[in-house]
Amino acid sequence: MANPTALVTGASRGIGQGISIELARAGFNVVVNYAGSEDGARRTAEECAEAAGENDIQTHIVRCDVGKAADRERMIGAAREQFGSLELLVNNAGITSIGRRDVLEAREEEFDALMAINLKGPYFLTQLAANWMRERDTSAEQSSPRFAPKVVTVSSISAYAVSTNRGDYCMAKAALGMMTKVYAARLAEFGINVFEVCPGVIASDMTAPVKEKYDKMFADGFTPIRRWGQPEDVGRAIVAIAEGYFPYSTGDTINVDGGFQIRQL
Ligand code: NAP
Repeated sequence: MANPTALVTGASRGIGQGISIELARAGFNVVVNYAGSEDGARRTAEECAEAAGENDIQTHIVRCDVGKAADRERMIGAAREQFGSLELLVNNAGITSIGRRDVLEAREEEFDALMAINLKGPYFLTQLAANWMRERDTSAEQSSPRFAPKVVTVSSISAYAVSTNRGDYCMAKAALGMMTKVYAARLAEFGINVFEVCPGVIASDMTAPVKEKYDKMFADGFTPIRRWGQPEDVGRAIVAIAEGYFPYSTGDTINVDGGFQIRQL
């Protein structure tokens, strides 16, 4: 049987790269999306091939700004042409708040730019992918739950933990939680389960500027598991979903945060 196929947005660096590598290790073909870092996307594809080892997986690199409708259409078209079916969409691409301005100084054009990438992109990319997934031949998934199509969206602990200098980021991440539930409710009848994966503080380019701050916070017990999250931590959680180990769950949030969400007295 052919491999299932995953499309990972923002796969040229950081968490998206880690997700792609873990999916390839598990025997998924990967559509590696990037916006500007073509070299990074090539590295992801190479590392996917290495991780896959004996698994004969394929990767396909596609440039697409997820905030742009024409780019999203082109990317889904390229994936369809290359692989014929899509078993997993991972909405991972995202940017941090532009300028990290105090909410009292936030600028409208920066708000719009972030919302286009972090919220509008996943909302309409999921729509495109889901309409494609609906058309599928369901015979393969009778023999293996990894062929049942799924959607995973990477949100953040910022969906519920406030940063007053990243209001737009926090709001977009909170909205992705509702997006997950809306699509979960709508797509269940088509056998498409939908999940939110909520990472804590993960080592990547996004968190590199605040590395010292978090080094100290982790050492002081900021999370019960006292270490930085790594991209592969998120990747492994997504592999568990992709493999079909949550067949009777949809609309759920999987926390990958070292226990950050636990309240303690
Ligand atoms: P990162 O290292 O900054 O990487 C961002 C990725 O998104 C890159 O692959 C980038 O592609 C891509 N991207 C940016 N704008 C894009 C666009 N318009 N269209 C398509 N791709 C675009 O960030 P990260 O830390 O891996 O974060 C990945 C996701 O996890 C984000 O949604 C982020 O909000 C979320 N998250 C991160 C953390 C954390 O602590 N790092 C925690 C919680 C949630 P190019 O390289 O081509 O620009």
